[in-house]
Amino acid sequence: MNKEGLLFIISAPSGAGKTSLCKEVVKFFPNLYHSVSYTTRLPRPGEKDGEDYLFVSKDKFQEMIDDRSFVEWAEIHGNRYGTTIDSLKEYRHKGIDIILDIDGQGGRQLKNEYPDGIYVFILPPSRKDLEERLRLRSTDSDEDIEKRLKNAKEELQYIYQYDYIVVNNDLEEAVSALKSIIIAEKCRRDRVLPLVKGLFQLL
Ligand code: 5GP
Repeated sequence: MNKEGLLFIISAPSGAGKTSLCKEVVKFFPNLYHSVSYTTRLPRPGEKDGEDYLFVSKDKFQEMIDDRSFVEWAEIHGNRYGTTIDSLKEYRHKGIDIILDIDGQGGRQLKNEYPDGIYVFILPPSRKDLEERLRLRSTDSDEDIEKRLKNAKEELQYIYQYDYIVVNNDLEEAVSALKSIIIAEKCRRDRVLPLVKGLFQLL
């Protein structure tokens, strides 16, 4: 229905479950694309290049920064992550909505460029729960987990730039909340009216 695809930006402390949440939500919306970021991080077991991330070397990432290929990028837990300008434009111009799973630094950069984006912050129910989730994932080293817990606190400082907060206590409920946000945003008067005006010739 939308001429230009909507942009949903999802951020959370690492381990709050936002990647699973994004993967679940895209299943319900055929017109919603989960953007694949570039990263210098090594793949975790089971992760696929081009699906989970586009895994590149540090040199290649630097080259892309120098070429101004990124709309935003950030250094997180010692690795770099970024979203390219081309991937956003390509999908949005085709009218496809995009969901971006990025950190708060990236969210802040995007907010300057895309104030019309919809910014959603995911919270774990508690710190204890966050720690348990990180340990359960067990693909990261102890040192990595400590780093992620420390960064979780820093990540919270960005919460005020987000429009919505979803507490991920139960995945099914959190998916339902995120789906509702997406549907409500698609029904906003300013988004729908321009599309139906011609149809009914009433307004
Ligand atoms: P992980 O290593 O656990 O996959 O991701 C670590 C963090 O990087 C997560 O908070 C994730 O949202 C963030 N991230 C993933 N892709 C991007 C990106 O393109 N840009 C930014 N700024 N953060 C990203």
